[in-house]
Amino acid sequence: MLQLLHQIVQEVNAAKDLKAALLTIVKRVRQALHTQACSVFLLDKAQTKYFLMATDGLNQKAVGRIGIAVGEGLIGWVGEREEPINIEDAPTHKRYLYSPLAGEEKFRGFLGVPIIHQRQNLGVLVVQHEQAHLFDKEEEAFLVTISVQLAGVLAHAKATGELGDIPRKRRSRSNKSITLKGLGSAPGVGAGTAVIVYPKSDLDAVPHRKIADVKAEQVKFEEALTLARDEIRQLGERAASLLPKEEQALFEAYLQILDSNSFHKEVCAQIKKGVWAQKALSEVITKHIAVFSAMDDPYFKERSLDIKDLGRRVLMHLQRASFKELKYPENTILVGDEITASDLVEVPEGHLSAIVSGSGSSNSHVAILARALGIPTVMGVEGLSPPLFEDRETIVDGYHGHVYISPNVNLKRELMRLIDEERELQAGLEELQNLPAQTTDGHQVSLLVNTGLAADAGLSLSVGAEGVGLYRTEVPFMTRDRFPAEEEQRVVYQQLLRAFSPRPVTMRTLDVGGDKVLPYFKVTEANPFLGWRGIRLTLDHPEVFLVQVRAMLRASQGLDNLRIMLPMISAVEEVDEALELIKRAHDELVEDQLAITFPPVGVMIEVPAAVYQIRAIVERVDFVSVGSNDLTQYLLAVDRNNSRVARLYDALHPSVLHALSSIVEETHKVNKTVSICGEMASDPVAVILLLAMGFDALSMSSVSLPRVKWVVRKFSMSHAKQLLDEVLKMNHAKQIRQRLEGVLAQAGLGGLIRAGKN
Ligand code: PEP
Ligand code: MG
Repeated sequence: MLQLLHQIVQEVNAAKDLKAALLTIVKRVRQALHTQACSVFLLDKAQTKYFLMATDGLNQKAVGRIGIAVGEGLIGWVGEREEPINIEDAPTHKRYLYSPLAGEEKFRGFLGVPIIHQRQNLGVLVVQHEQAHLFDKEEEAFLVTISVQLAGVLAHAKATGELGDIPRKRRSRSNKSITLKGLGSAPGVGAGTAVIVYPKSDLDAVPHRKIADVKAEQVKFEEALTLARDEIRQLGERAASLLPKEEQALFEAYLQILDSNSFHKEVCAQIKKGVWAQKALSEVITKHIAVFSAMDDPYFKERSLDIKDLGRRVLMHLQRASFKELKYPENTILVGDEITASDLVEVPEGHLSAIVSGSGSSNSHVAILARALGIPTVMGVEGLSPPLFEDRETIVDGYHGHVYISPNVNLKRELMRLIDEERELQAGLEELQNLPAQTTDGHQVSLLVNTGLAADAGLSLSVGAEGVGLYRTEVPFMTRDRFPAEEEQRVVYQQLLRAFSPRPVTMRTLDVGGDKVLPYFKVTEANPFLGWRGIRLTLDHPEVFLVQVRAMLRASQGLDNLRIMLPMISAVEEVDEALELIKRAHDELVEDQLAITFPPVGVMIEVPAAVYQIRAIVERVDFVSVGSNDLTQYLLAVDRNNSRVARLYDALHPSVLHALSSIVEETHKVNKTVSICGEMASDPVAVILLLAMGFDALSMSSVSLPRVKWVVRKFSMSHAKQLLDEVLKMNHAKQIRQRLEGVLAQAGLGGLIRAGKN
């Protein structure tokens, strides 16, 4: 059964459009369950009807013409109950609704299962038997499993607009307005032209593209092939000293495939048809993978992986060759299944107006970087199909998570008006630059910036930042192809310390792992967020940690505004060990006659274990800073990067708020300072609560700082405290957010939580 399921899923995924996918399902399911009919009914919410969309067994003429009202018949009943309904003799059932057009009179046994995606009912999948027949439990489970897979395909079709056409006549796709929905991850509205970023070396993600110059394309393919050959040869040489003889044969086999005439011919034949080399290659490789995967012999089955690996290698070289050709227009909207921080950095300064990513969530590091740069961003767009964007005008609403492709005239006018209002709001905020972050009753809080790009120092200072609350040092590590040397690091750190001097700069020691991967230090783990991350990794590699700390200390010489912060602390031993290493680095420099002041050292509180040991931790260090992004993730057990569970991720969850209150209370008891540097510090509704809790400093992206200052200056501490008392008694994050949004709107700050000015 499992193998059959895999095969059906593979065939469905390979189908060229939704219609073909549905037809494959009904045909294959009918065969698999030995029934006489299998059909898919899809729910059209606007018409409140289930339409027959594909069938194998019922009258084909009924497709697109039979509409069963919600709540009617057995189909309506399955949708209502949201569970399988298995009836031995359907015509005798009181909910049975006879449809002459479908030619249903001959069917008796009925099994219907709902098609549900992320709690939404999309339709019903039905199998019918000519005889009275009760389907057994295994058949029922099989149909449910197929339906779950089908739900994913349908959600994708819905997101791309393909499903919207059903059952009305299909219109041309090219100029149709499409609205996609994702997670609003960086505020603002941006308009422009899409530049599509395809995942490197993903054979399934290569788009169709026509070429005019066949010869040039063949040359590109030849070159990529030569590079892949060289690479495999080198790997083979290295393997000679590491692997037994039989395993080394693999590399020989790889070379033979690459050199084989048929492989070469097949790709070139595709290119001759005007298909670009990347797609020609992916098509040929995919075909071969399918042949090998379908073989019963496990040895040959496994070979499909080798073919895939080979294909990806050649593709990587082809992509490198065309990579330089990527052009970024002035209003670039980056679109891709998975946009990474380095994709974002590639865009020339001032050219990026929005980001749309199929995966990830508001808490992914790329979203954080986007917020820092003030780029409207929508993450986790369900069923994103990047080719859909090619050559089409796109508008991105980063507040609500909406992406509009070819918006109609009225919608466009409205969105452009919002963009203008945004500009006005921003201009108004600039007036706050030199005013203190002080409540109406005189309570002051420090507003600091988070940074990872030395280049935004100017912007941070221009918005009135009092220092850097978090410098994510991994950025200079991520943009190189090896660990940066001590001197290279010193130069980067010193630039930042100088730019902010005499204001304090809190530098976090290297925090890689989780979703921050160094291209030259790949770690493969089943649970990267619970794995070798942050301080765990650097304590295991003191040579990396010591070089970094020495670079920081040397950079601070004569400036004395450095503070060092340790990420991902989950046990006091880690604090002790790190402190010892920092002392050692400092002692060594002092021995070298360098007059360097020992900096304040702090700890990030971002793991629940640290919350419960806050006293022991804070007594060892000079300050603490809450990393609310990770603390929320770990307290709620919600992967901050996973769009499927993004709706469960909320820093206003009562558990998070109680944890934050207790961190502030405990830290103040021993007269140490506590700041917060997670994204929560720039959420206008959360700011009111953080103020009331007594955080000494809030650290955020420079773009957010004026907005946060506006909130601070609008409220009194007593009002904020009264609101905190009120919401700490609430049990639901949603209820808390609604209450606070109401308060902001009342105070005239509605423009901070939605597009526009008010
Ligand atoms: C955090 O976890 O809140 C934090 C500031 O660190 P990062 O987002 O870099 O993990
Ligand atoms: Mg963190």
